[in-house]
Amino acid sequence: MTWHLDEDDVRAYAQGELTPPLLWSADTHLAACAACRAVLAEAADPGALDAGWERLDAELDAPRPGFLEALLMRLGVADHTARLLAATPVLRRSWLASVVLLLLTTVGVVYSADSPTLFLALAPMLPLAGVALSYGPALDPTYEMAVVSPVHGFRLLMIRTLAVLVAGLGLNGLATLALPAYGLRALAWLLPALALTAASLALTARLGPVLAPLLVGGAWLALLVSAEAAKSGTDSQLAPFTAAGQGVSAAVAALAVGLLFLVRDRFDVFHRSAV
Ligand SMILES: [Zn+2]
Repeated sequence: MTWHLDEDDVRAYAQGELTPPLLWSADTHLAACAACRAVLAEAADPGALDAGWERLDAELDAPRPGFLEALLMRLGVADHTARLLAATPVLRRSWLASVVLLLLTTVGVVYSADSPTLFLALAPMLPLAGVALSYGPALDPTYEMAVVSPVHGFRLLMIRTLAVLVAGLGLNGLATLALPAYGLRALAWLLPALALTAASLALTARLGPVLAPLLVGGAWLALLVSAEAAKSGTDSQLAPFTAAGQGVSAAVAALAVGLLFLVRDRFDVFHRSAV
């Protein structure tokens, strides 16, 4: 070695204040020169160095955000919320594909039967099923996270439900566009969908994530069957899709949301007992 690093430069290097190109030559020299490394070890505050290593470790261990997560973060969603959303199975391609398939089948049935009744009956079940499916260890990779999560159980539930609702309602909306002949009447599924999902969530606090959606879905089907039986003429609408039925749906949705807010603390207990 014909030269050594200036002691001030070594101190600057230790504090991370050295800038290129001096930084590069210091790096190269330190790699080859034990004497300057000894000076560096003396100059370096051991605490700062450890902290630096920890930062580097954390940086290397941190998973790269996926496409969806990065997109959500760019849209201004907080990073931990974006991770939860991206890990929600409803937003995964396989789940979306099966929902799209189901919708296409429904639209096909509707066109062949020349009546939107079946679509209107099935459409509100999709967000309900989506919310129900976003629970349980078999379907949900975030299940462990939900169980141990420090995030308030109710907040977690709302984040996921919102994700599921947006995906489900968006897809349902697209299917509605496939029924242009029926105009706004084809949107009659929207309020029942909100009512069913909110009612199911409110009941989940008491009945658990399996029984509640099954019960609500069953009640909806029973209602449709009895409405079909009570229908006066072949051309008249089923009761839930008339103006009065829509009003009842809106009232049920509002009531269920209120109830959900009242029982919100139960979801923390529910998360703990789910282990
Ligand atoms: Zn040296």
